[in-house]
Amino acid sequence: MRSWMSLQAGFGDFQYRRNVYLFALRMSFVAVILSGVILALTIPPLGFFGLLPMTLSHAIGFGAVFSWLVGGTVCGMLSLAAGFTMHELTLSRAEFEKLSRTDTLSGLLNRRAFTEALDKAEDNASLVIFDVDRFKAINDRFGHACGDAVITAVSAVLRSAFDEMSVVARLGGEEFGVIVSGELEARLKRIEGVRARIASGAIAADGHDIRITVSGGVADLAAGRSKQAVYASADRALYLAKALGRNRVVHEREGLHHAWHGLADNGFDAKGRGAESDNVMQAYGI
Ligand code: GH3
Ligand code: MG
Ligand code: MG
Repeated sequence: MRSWMSLQAGFGDFQYRRNVYLFALRMSFVAVILSGVILALTIPPLGFFGLLPMTLSHAIGFGAVFSWLVGGTVCGMLSLAAGFTMHELTLSRAEFEKLSRTDTLSGLLNRRAFTEALDKAEDNASLVIFDVDRFKAINDRFGHACGDAVITAVSAVLRSAFDEMSVVARLGGEEFGVIVSGELEARLKRIEGVRARIASGAIAADGHDIRITVSGGVADLAAGRSKQAVYASADRALYLAKALGRNRVVHEREGLHHAWHGLADNGFDAKGRGAESDNVMQAYGI
């Protein structure tokens, strides 16, 4: 009976009030039919043994009216009350679910939701991790509130730059993750476009025009490749973008090349490289 009831409840999507009324109507019909069956099973034997205080036809008529009026109405009312309680619970559960997946400052998905989306993501997509360059200096110079305004502005750029097929999230601090779908060259172009767009404009916050840049690390999702490996590779590429001077996007496939030639081009050499480049070399096993 319990599983039958939950099946009935499951059929109604309690997110919508209309479905609560349909559920109550269905339940009251079921109550009427059930009481009809019970009456049909009990009244004739009672009549046979002369235990009815009225004639058989009166008892059947009385029972039918009683089951319709009382059984149907009471069950309908109870189902309405239960349905509206479920309606409230469904709404608050959906709200809670949404909050638990949303970053409060930016309104983007949070890291938890992003990790789930990445786990489910199909191939033919890239993961990009963007990180605002020298963000600590922005906080130090303009204050934490301005830092927050920068995060919000970058979030808005990312939200508008990627289509609905892409997943955009704030991973924490001034770091953002995007799963970009579409054809490879097109998605790399779009990622680079976002970097250029952020670098070309200023963000107005608290009376200041703040110019910022972002760095990005890109890795491709591929069949048989674990999502952890993709994430680690994008993270390494981001690290390399920072080491190469920031305000740039590095794709994982450029990684090895840049890890050696890029750092050398940027003034590092085998003897005199900085701690940052040492870490990059380590990350690439050089
Ligand atoms: P890099 O170019 O290497 O990324 O340098 P960075 O200064 O951006 O990186 P770092 O990780 O040193 O600094 C990040 C700073 O972001 C430190 C932290 O105080 C600040 N931060 C983290 N979350 C928030 C936030 O929600 N709001 C603000 N305003 N600042 C935040
Ligand atoms: Mg940063
Ligand atoms: Mg960071």
